[in-house]
Amino acid sequence: MNLDKQALAILKKSMDTLESGFPALPSYASETDWSGIEPIMQTVAKRMHDNYPYHHAYYIGQMLKPPHPIAHIAYTLAMNLNPNNHALDGGRASSEMEKEAVAEIARMFGWDEHLGHLCGGGTMANFEALWVSAELQGRDKIVVASEQSHYTHSRLCAVMGVPFESIASDSIGRMNTAELESRLAKGGVGTVVVTLGTTLSGAVDSLADILRLRERFEFRIHVDTAYGGYFKLVSNLDPHARMAFDAIHEADSIVIDPHKQGLQPYGCGCVLFKDPAVGRIYNHDSPYTYFSSDDLHLGEISLECSRAGASAVALWATQQLLPMSTDGEFAAGLQQGRQAALNLYQWLHETEGFTPLFGPQLDIVCWAVDGLSASQSSAHAKRLFDVAADKFDLHLAVASIPRHMCVAVQSIQDWDQDHLYCLRACAMKPEHIDALPEIQKRLAAALTAAWYVPLPQLVTLMESTFW
Ligand SMILES: *Cc1c(COP(=O)(O)O)cnc(C)c1O
Repeated sequence: MNLDKQALAILKKSMDTLESGFPALPSYASETDWSGIEPIMQTVAKRMHDNYPYHHAYYIGQMLKPPHPIAHIAYTLAMNLNPNNHALDGGRASSEMEKEAVAEIARMFGWDEHLGHLCGGGTMANFEALWVSAELQGRDKIVVASEQSHYTHSRLCAVMGVPFESIASDSIGRMNTAELESRLAKGGVGTVVVTLGTTLSGAVDSLADILRLRERFEFRIHVDTAYGGYFKLVSNLDPHARMAFDAIHEADSIVIDPHKQGLQPYGCGCVLFKDPAVGRIYNHDSPYTYFSSDDLHLGEISLECSRAGASAVALWATQQLLPMSTDGEFAAGLQQGRQAALNLYQWLHETEGFTPLFGPQLDIVCWAVDGLSASQSSAHAKRLFDVAADKFDLHLAVASIPRHMCVAVQSIQDWDQDHLYCLRACAMKPEHIDALPEIQKRLAAALTAAWYVPLPQLVTLMESTFW
């Protein structure tokens, strides 16, 4: 697990140093009664058995990976003070660290100047971006996003009472740019949400083409790259995705989730605005130069009030160890995940019984299990999910995918439903590349086991069929 003996020794040493920063305070003995805590923690640990092993390489299902040990240690260290980054006097050092860490992320996207902060996650971050956009464009203006965008966008618009429309996606899950163009031509659109890395399949909308539409239509571009953002750093993207990530600095706002690919504990999203002057929308009467000053209280430019300063401390420490450079260890880890996804795609392509839906644009692979009808193929996928987990300790995800994204699946003769349940793997952990041969072996074994008919049953079956 994440905090081994060495990590605990480092934590202890850093706690001693932290404590030494407050030498004038009289010490007071903690009255904690440890004897009551231990048995409860045993129960907690046992309750936690009811989880899939998210920390292990054989878990390759949903978007889950454990934080880096340095994030874990830094977060735990900060918890001794439990700072609150709402206001400077609640979290002095951690607010500074937040500003520095967020500026690093902005620089990764090509912005030397920006307004931004951390928040609870991608939902909250997108909420702020959509809210700022609606305030600037007018609340009657429509927000559009692809049908494969995260469902949070339509829900957030409903919360704000701002109209939302979805734009069809193409067969690999990217926004159909021609459809967007005709929608823009009809008028009334104020904001286009561009997803770089959809949550389902990691599809990358054509940001470069969408930017060109701004020459003819007036709209704000919000890039939701909660999942994909850090792929800006990798060198093994396909040319289409590369072009989109290279254009990201042209957006008006960006959302990225350090708690997805950034090795952070949950509770760490990030919203960035290109123009620091949007800070005035947060009902602030200071001059806008204030938004980049050291006196800025993060609570003045954030909809959330209390927030864990520990999140900022963990992110800052992680960025020190693993700088967000294109040639560093952090980028190499993402690149390995992407390579693992490409290898898995190739293997699925060559393996009888499986059909990968399309080549991955990031590190997510979706594939169908053969069946004569859509409902049968879906049932097979669900069965394989269970057998892989129960018998082979291999943990995948099941995803519902619309028919128009399943053109590669030719085994299905009867489309008796308009979507297909498929298997899905997020190769998010750097370890996945080394574990992949074993993962493939287990997947193949699960496929055999799922349809293995025990001999006595087979005899009965044959008897009933032939005699
Ligand atoms: C995960 C995700 C979200 C939602 O973010 P949370 O951190 O889960 O609140 C929004 N958009 C995209 C593209 C995502 O992948």
